[in-house]
Amino acid sequence: MATEAPITQDVLTIPRKLPEDGKVNLVGLTRAKLREALIGMGTPEKQAKMRTGQIWQWIYHWGVRDFAEMTNLAKAYRAQLAEHFVVEVPEVVSRQVSADGTRKYLVRIAGGHEVEVVYIPEADRGTLCISSQVGCTLTCSFCHTGTQKLVRNLTAAEIVGQVMMARDDLDEWPEPGVGTGDAGPRLLSNIVLMGMGEPLYNFDNVRDAMKVVMDGEGIALSRRRITLSTSGVVPEIAKCAEEIGCLLAVSFHATTDEVRNKLVPINKRWNIEALLNSLREYPRLSNSERITFEYVMLKDVNDTDADARRLVKLIQGIPAKINLIPFNEWPGSPYERSDWERIERFADIIYKAGYASPIRTPRGEDIMAACGQLKSATERERKSRRQIEQETGL
Ligand code: SAH
Ligand code: SF4
Repeated sequence: MATEAPITQDVLTIPRKLPEDGKVNLVGLTRAKLREALIGMGTPEKQAKMRTGQIWQWIYHWGVRDFAEMTNLAKAYRAQLAEHFVVEVPEVVSRQVSADGTRKYLVRIAGGHEVEVVYIPEADRGTLCISSQVGCTLTCSFCHTGTQKLVRNLTAAEIVGQVMMARDDLDEWPEPGVGTGDAGPRLLSNIVLMGMGEPLYNFDNVRDAMKVVMDGEGIALSRRRITLSTSGVVPEIAKCAEEIGCLLAVSFHATTDEVRNKLVPINKRWNIEALLNSLREYPRLSNSERITFEYVMLKDVNDTDADARRLVKLIQGIPAKINLIPFNEWPGSPYERSDWERIERFADIIYKAGYASPIRTPRGEDIMAACGQLKSATERERKSRRQIEQETGL
């Protein structure tokens, strides 16, 4: 495995590694970038828009990876495409299926790094939880990913590629000439950016990837079926509303700055008040209904009745739903899950104040697929104390 020096927040670069033979991967390029790539290869400018549309449909609507199958293009043009480009998604290294149907994939990306992707089937939907970074620069003390060094941001190709990989595994691409893929409920109907990493610290790639996924002539998931979860990168929140327009979830987890500083150290940079101010604007800017407040239930840390009441008071005026997450323990984790009665009592106080307060049922526990347990097998190394200090000092 390649080892790279730890990269700090502000100097993150995206090694846009080309496939072995130097060909460019078309996956994850926005329409404009795809057009540019085609022109760069010699496609006449006046044909470029049409070719972009055709190739886009093959890749994202039909799920085709081989240019030879793109039968509405001239043979010579297909050969030319194959000389310059590939259509490549991350390689699946392992796939585990839980007793409850949850699937956890470990996928390998350029540089030999691995990230996890989780598919959660439910009665009315199928949700794919995708990753945006290898590791995370932040150090939330209850999160397994937070103990892992940030290795790098994922490229847009690697983010879209996780969705394409899952559709491969679910066998959900329409069969050319048979279906259009529009019939019936979708197996993969929703996306949550709740895997490894802080999506708002990889904003451009996440945005480009989501634009591809939302495009009506391809995978075509509506922006209301995509939820981005952030620990609270305040300056990026308005941008997320304006440039992606997806639903927002925020890792709130505490009702005083003192406790939140410990659980979600980014709070030292942007505290509860600053975060709430940015959230107040989100529904209007993104034209969406409500924000999900994620709240991990940690025994004797943030789970008292007083916390529940403070929470309700803090979010007053923000259209919200509070998602209570029973803490998922991981080997060596410094916290315990709150007792069930405590979680229910907490939920009840919030519910009585007029907010939906679902308790997230842990899924895929037998395969360590739950929220915050994701950590790739090859990146077990812990952050050094110095690195943690640097990062939490922000
Ligand atoms: N970095 C983003 C998204 C990834 S984490 C964020 O922090 O929001 C997705 C959710 O899982 C977050 O709400 C996170 O706080 C929560 N989480 C992390 N570790 C957890 C754990 N061990 N148990 C329960 N939830 C956890
Ligand atoms: Fe990073 Fe989110 Fe984990 Fe915090 S909870 S360390 S932001 S992945």
